[in-house]
Amino acid sequence: MTDAPRVPPSAPPAPRSKRRNAVLALYDSPLYRDWAFWMTAGWGLITAVAIPAGDQPSSLPVWLDTLLAVLTFVILFGVFPTWLRLLIRRWLARRRRRQPQSFAGPSPGSGDGAAAESAQRPTSPDVLPPSQPSSQPAHRQPSSPQTPSPHQHRAPAQPHSVQQPVPLTKYGTEPLSSSAVLADARRMMPHPVARAIRTLQQANTSKEQYEAVLDAAEILAISASVTAAAVLQGKTGGSVESDESGRRSLSTLRSALLARGGATFGTWTNWLEALRLFVASHPGAVPGLSEALYGDAHAADLVDQLNALRTERNRAAHGDRPQSAGEATLRVTEIGPHLEQALIKAKFLTQLPWLLTISCSYQPRSHTFDVVAHDVMGDHPDFERCEFTWPNPVATDVFYILNPEGPVSLSPFVASLFCPQCQQMEVCYATRTTKNSGPAALKSFARGHTVHSADLGDEIRSLPQGTTR
Ligand SMILES: [Zn+2]
Repeated sequence: MTDAPRVPPSAPPAPRSKRRNAVLALYDSPLYRDWAFWMTAGWGLITAVAIPAGDQPSSLPVWLDTLLAVLTFVILFGVFPTWLRLLIRRWLARRRRRQPQSFAGPSPGSGDGAAAESAQRPTSPDVLPPSQPSSQPAHRQPSSPQTPSPHQHRAPAQPHSVQQPVPLTKYGTEPLSSSAVLADARRMMPHPVARAIRTLQQANTSKEQYEAVLDAAEILAISASVTAAAVLQGKTGGSVESDESGRRSLSTLRSALLARGGATFGTWTNWLEALRLFVASHPGAVPGLSEALYGDAHAADLVDQLNALRTERNRAAHGDRPQSAGEATLRVTEIGPHLEQALIKAKFLTQLPWLLTISCSYQPRSHTFDVVAHDVMGDHPDFERCEFTWPNPVATDVFYILNPEGPVSLSPFVASLFCPQCQQMEVCYATRTTKNSGPAALKSFARGHTVHSADLGDEIRSLPQGTTR
């Protein structure tokens, strides 16, 4: 892993920020960020202004003349080109799936010679015959370097595709709405994940369910990453070497947040993947993380499961969303097991509770601090209050993780911020900031709203910086 500021993965923006072809199956959502929408609106407007102003004689009344002209121009120069764009996007998505390369673009480690080892990423195409996964050629786009041994260890268990029947049918047989894994996740996972799973289980249509699986996958990737990052950040003790490689991992995340595109789904999975090296040499640094990042005889690891879901997310983002309820149901059946396995693999999250501090007061007699906090676990929006006595003070209204060694701050990765759009506090995660000064942009887990914070911008910039080699 290089420490140079990395190129953000060229994966499309997160679905909650921009959904391709989400409006009338033609335009991207939000509309104001879609050039095709502006083109359509522009033609309509220009025609509406130009026709009444013109002096050509017409047998029709002016309003009818204008209406017909607007419709003609909008369809001809707005809707038709947009429809062509949709066809091209679908064609590109289909072609991309046939090629043995990932949608994700270059990963953080690209340019690093050691990368060829990651040839069999699960982002591999889903149309390859199941019998040949191991003879598949190396990806053109190298992924982060990793040691050969864990990779070979994982290889037999890797899912080879999103479309093929997944080799973990044990969990794939029951519908997601009644899945025991999902029920446990709603009860025990950090709130953003639990809430996303709740949304998934309450989805009314299969299309909603499909979107909810993909959203939950991204939220799980973010939550696992920020939890690991917070624990690494909180590490002050331990060996010097552990501190050093932990700092290097954090500096990678810092670079990703300072990069132009900010952090995407791919940023988080790539970062988790790069952590494999770290946990191989420091298995106890983040409790439970090494179990998550290495597959076993029964299932592939967390990163591989998340990458399989990310491949599907990219497929949808490239215009290949399910067109019918039946297709959506089929695709949910294909990707659901990956989400369940990812949740099982991310079990370490259930053992590192998220807290939102309410108050912290010094007790002179015992020289300790009484802390009151919300327990931000599970899908219920009314968090339980809990009380602690800690030897050191904590900031209030800040997210912490209750590590076995003590609380560690989730700031600047996660924050409770006032969202101007919905006029209430929202749990947000950092997506990007600028290099030298300026606020950080955070997104709310629940609605994808963007909230800015000047303090967190400074805090992200003061994360450990990598030494440029
Ligand atoms: Zn909001």
